[in-house]
Amino acid sequence: MFISFEGIDGSGKSTQARLLATTLTDQGYDVVLTREPGGSKGAEEIRALVLEGDPDRWSPETELLLFTAARRDHLEKTIRPALAAGKIVICDRFADSTRVYQGSTRGDLLGRVNALHETMIGVEPDITVLVDIDPSVGLSRAKARQTTEERFEDFGVEMQIKMRAAFLDLAKSAERFKIINGAQSLDLVAKDIASVVLPHLDS
Ligand code: C5P
Repeated sequence: MFISFEGIDGSGKSTQARLLATTLTDQGYDVVLTREPGGSKGAEEIRALVLEGDPDRWSPETELLLFTAARRDHLEKTIRPALAAGKIVICDRFADSTRVYQGSTRGDLLGRVNALHETMIGVEPDITVLVDIDPSVGLSRAKARQTTEERFEDFGVEMQIKMRAAFLDLAKSAERFKIINGAQSLDLVAKDIASVVLPHLDS
């Protein structure tokens, strides 16, 4: 079972991915919690190349190629082996983030994002949890916790609004998307997520 978490910056998806991993592990499932960009040695190195340093170092096209290369490595080294071993893979961001960020908001490359995905990745999650949040709330949360060397994606609230719309639009395209109200308390969000995921698991 392959579960991805998606949402705008500050939506709480990473916290919720961790909470779901803990819940499922406590119930006896074998869980691999991973993230993108990153999730394997090579992909983490590519993450650093893209997210640290000069934000204008790469063109949107090059950035798309780098993210796709990172995803391919992540798939080969982490995701596929875990799924083959019967584990539950929980991934903080996957291809939908690329569709939204490089495809529709930061770049206008959706056709190329999808073409590259088809030829080089070819996998979609079984379930995608979209943690939906008001863009200004997301932005202030993201700003408040910013501590790393990574480039801060402070695109402003206008961009957050576009990204949220792009995620919600994407969510209409496939059954696998489960939209969760991220404005609730941490516990309630976690409860909602568990209630959409648990029925899909073999007990
Ligand atoms: O989810 P996380 O906060 O680790 O993502 C790090 C940054 O990478 C985010 O600020 C996000 O805007 C950016 N990103 C991106 N394109 C992707 C995935 C993430 O620009 N496909």
